[in-house]
Amino acid sequence: QSTFANEFAFTAPPDMPKLRARLLANENPLGIAPSAKEALIKAADSGNRYAWMEFGQLKDLIATDEGVKATNIMMSPGSSDILMAAADNFAKAGGTILTSAFTYDDLLRRSEKLGAKIKAMPMTKDYKFDLPAIKASLTPDVKLVYIVNPNNPTGTIVPTAELEAFCREVAPKVPVFIDEAYIDFYEPAERPKLGKLVADGQNIILARTFSKIHGFAGLRLGYAIAQPDMLKTLHAYTNGDFAVSITTLMAGIASYKDIAWQNHCRAENAKARSYTTKALTEMGYEVIPSAANFILFPIRMKPKTFENQMFANGIGIQTREYNGQPFCRVSVGTSEEMVMFIDSFKKVVG
Ligand code: PLP
Repeated sequence: QSTFANEFAFTAPPDMPKLRARLLANENPLGIAPSAKEALIKAADSGNRYAWMEFGQLKDLIATDEGVKATNIMMSPGSSDILMAAADNFAKAGGTILTSAFTYDDLLRRSEKLGAKIKAMPMTKDYKFDLPAIKASLTPDVKLVYIVNPNNPTGTIVPTAELEAFCREVAPKVPVFIDEAYIDFYEPAERPKLGKLVADGQNIILARTFSKIHGFAGLRLGYAIAQPDMLKTLHAYTNGDFAVSITTLMAGIASYKDIAWQNHCRAENAKARSYTTKALTEMGYEVIPSAANFILFPIRMKPKTFENQMFANGIGIQTREYNGQPFCRVSVGTSEEMVMFIDSFKKVVG
């Protein structure tokens, strides 16, 4: 049994294929970029070749953007592999993983299974990572600090300057893992540029994924940015680069270069998110301001009852509980899907 507040394991319901709106896994409702699809099909012709050159190509593109070296990057099939590798490494000898309550718990659950303790500090009143509280809880048995920014399920972000200062102070003592799965939903100019801390030699691990704005949840592509020694350590638990297929890799390169498609997806997400936030607020619900492709808000029904009734209406969402309060987490779908969500929500809550 987990000891932290947000323990949650999602099991796909059997009636998932019947959903009218699948708003439960923070996927990209617009699909993959047409340019990525074209590259993917073309890459099928190279399916018989190992993809040594192509890894280099994508790493060079990322390295340039992040201000790091290609040797600071390890590709992976989604960022889950990086999270699991980190859990395997840092929890194997027990100790403590320090984090916030009410966050993404894959790495935490795995760490706990391996025998580590999870120390999850309460969130701030506005559902953000409480970095000062986390820093104050640093004890010698802490093996890893796990931050999620933007956070899942709250959608909140921590101020970039505060996060940077936190990393500079904490990372010399213990590695800081920053899960940036939703970073692409920041406007590019406002995005934290933590790559520069890696370039400065700081012991941080950034985990990124193509599953969100790039729509690669099924294709599977992600990467870690860290010190080369750290990547070598993590590589003992994952095949890293080599676990990625040439088709996914070539599609990833095309998508990474397709800034127009990313901007389109970000703008559509912001539009549908704002519609949903407004509709819920007008109904008297306190929506937590989200910087990502999902929204969290407290509900007034039993979570399972709410979930089942939404599913019965063909709308797939997830529920969470924090401090005894149930919440709905709804992924931002297309504008049409969000209209369906609001209509069904009105029906379900009466
Ligand atoms: N980190 C966070 C915060 C997530 O929400 C997710 C998936 O939803 C992941 C990591 C893992 O995503 P993937 O393995 O598809 O990259």
